[in-house]
Amino acid sequence: MTAVFDTLSEPLSRRLASGLSRLSAALRAGQWRLGEARGLTPTQAQALAVIAARGGPGRHAPRLSEVAEQLAVSRPTASDAVAALERKGLVARQPDPRDARASGLVLTGEGQAAASDAGDWPAMLLDTAADLSPAEQEMLLRLVVKMIRGLQARGAIAPARLCVTCRHFRPYAHGDALAPHHCAYVDAPFGDRHLRLDCPEQDPLPPAEAEVVWARFTSGAPGASPPN
Ligand code: SF4
Repeated sequence: MTAVFDTLSEPLSRRLASGLSRLSAALRAGQWRLGEARGLTPTQAQALAVIAARGGPGRHAPRLSEVAEQLAVSRPTASDAVAALERKGLVARQPDPRDARASGLVLTGEGQAAASDAGDWPAMLLDTAADLSPAEQEMLLRLVVKMIRGLQARGAIAPARLCVTCRHFRPYAHGDALAPHHCAYVDAPFGDRHLRLDCPEQDPLPPAEAEVVWARFTSGAPGASPPN
């Protein structure tokens, strides 16, 4: 029998999309306030955060195209944001060792200080996430991974450096319910609560192999904790 609320309610997927949209709006507002304190627009603050996360010691300084890809904005929009950051003395360019004709983006000393302020997550978001129980946080992280991978597969966002698309990821390699997965890079077991969304050591799998790993991750393994 169809429950009354099945006919009264909007489809579940629509309400979920609506809720996620509200969360996104709250996040943008929080980032706007953080950036404002430094005189940055949200796009400039996000560009600063990308340059900080992707660059640093031992890594290639990110190019403008990479910033645009990570922010899911057009190249001219990213170019405007980076040019503003250069004018403010927060970002500089340096030759890219991978290509003599290209340049990489690095933070200045002042840019590093600004990135730790403006690039941080708004306290209200961190506090709200911390209010969830450890089990809820772990479950939500797994769902967020699924959502990011789904958006990535639809070409809606740039590829993220996820464990689940990494060459080193061995889902359900162990019988330990708390740490069923294995990272071949670190050579250590880990659990869903450790899944990374932006791992610098991530080595992306080709699509066909990534599908096999994803199927294994979502189906789980005997003796391991059941997948969501
Ligand atoms: S290298 Fe990073 S992304 Fe890859 S499995 Fe290990 S922790 Fe995850």
